[in-house]
Amino acid sequence: MNVVNIPETSVAVVNSEDRFPIRRIFCVGRNYAAHAKEMGANPDREAPFYFTKSADTIVASGSTVAYPPRCNELHHEIELVAAIGKAGSNISAESALDHIFGYAVGIDLTRRDLQAEAKSKGRPWDTAKNFDQSAPISEIYPASETGHPSSGRIWLAVNGEMRQEGDLVEMIWSVAESIAEISTYVAVAPGDLVYTGTPAGVGPLVAGDKVSGGIDGIGSIEIDIASP
Ligand code: MN
Repeated sequence: MNVVNIPETSVAVVNSEDRFPIRRIFCVGRNYAAHAKEMGANPDREAPFYFTKSADTIVASGSTVAYPPRCNELHHEIELVAAIGKAGSNISAESALDHIFGYAVGIDLTRRDLQAEAKSKGRPWDTAKNFDQSAPISEIYPASETGHPSSGRIWLAVNGEMRQEGDLVEMIWSVAESIAEISTYVAVAPGDLVYTGTPAGVGPLVAGDKVSGGIDGIGSIEIDIASP
């Protein structure tokens, strides 16, 4: 076996030598009404749904992300990420926050053209969502320092121009409710990340773009998009 370029599968913990090892990545879909509408969906409170990305799709803030293959429409989705620190299944929403180690700022990179094709053909979203370098993430901020945010500005800019701007308070399903729902399907465990959905304003990225984003009270993220 030729062992080269093994992707990072852990995330730095802020102000610490510790790293958070990634087990699974869950991503909640359509969790802000204005984004659901822009994607042509009904934002009424349908049950939350999620898809997954592989642990090795993680890339640290500050990285350069290669424009992915088989894609002509790469989209940014800025998201609050919850990092699970305590295992559980059938977790109640009331106790779900006890399972969170910390929070981060993530970008759910999406091959929107492949997603549209998958939707139209009733196929899985894997090629649209679960591709190399598709899950940029900031350092993880322990909840012991940040608390559990239920409001706060969330934004993303491309080359300094604001593209996405919302507030965590606009989430249809709270972080606790999303974790509770996921835990009814599978056990969650330390090392799991939950990308909790994106506000309105998703849009295309091209090679050369400088992407920045942040969440008030949590942190910030920056990535560059490079040629394929
Ligand atoms: Mn998303």
